[in-house]
Amino acid sequence: PEALNRAKSLFAVIPDYPEPGVTFQDITPVLADPEGLTTLAEALLAPFAGQFDLIAGIEARGFLLAGAMAGLTNARGGSAGVLTIRKAGKLPSPAAKVSYELEYGSAAIEAPDVLRPGHRVLIVDDVLATGGTIAACRELVTELGAEVVGATAVMKVEALDGEKIAGEVHSLFSC
Ligand code: 5GP
Repeated sequence: PEALNRAKSLFAVIPDYPEPGVTFQDITPVLADPEGLTTLAEALLAPFAGQFDLIAGIEARGFLLAGAMAGLTNARGGSAGVLTIRKAGKLPSPAAKVSYELEYGSAAIEAPDVLRPGHRVLIVDDVLATGGTIAACRELVTELGAEVVGATAVMKVEALDGEKIAGEVHSLFSC
């Protein structure tokens, strides 16, 4: 808990970004801190040890968390690869695409062609807000025949009740 408290103290909290009334939670300074990065990766993994084959990171900060988590898992004798869930339009040959609604407008994410039936996938992102992104990621993984074993995020925005849409999401902090 002390290491987690220290990590939380490193967050940059930016009022009125990207628009007035929204408070942006920026984990960049935690990623830049060696102890903070390891603390996040460890805590995100803890509830799911041994339950997954792939860690699906959502572009872009989810990539970094997924990479750190997989590195730690493998260094400790476990086995994990990373699945990069990308914003639509960036992969040369996406295996699947799911569109979803944002507060204003819509977005889409795509998965590369690496998922196979039987793969157990843990989803990770930095922030759970409305839940649309993690819900879309769940859909993407299951559409490709793999299994979502869990979802985890560093920060949950309580007021938006994102788990209503995203399903259960383990989170380290809430705001
Ligand atoms: P949702 O789909 O749950 O509404 O939004 C989650 C997505 O938007 C995540 O991919 C997350 O990175 C981004 N996001 C939403 N709010 C914030 C925020 O306050 N800080 C950061 N860093 N990302 C956010």
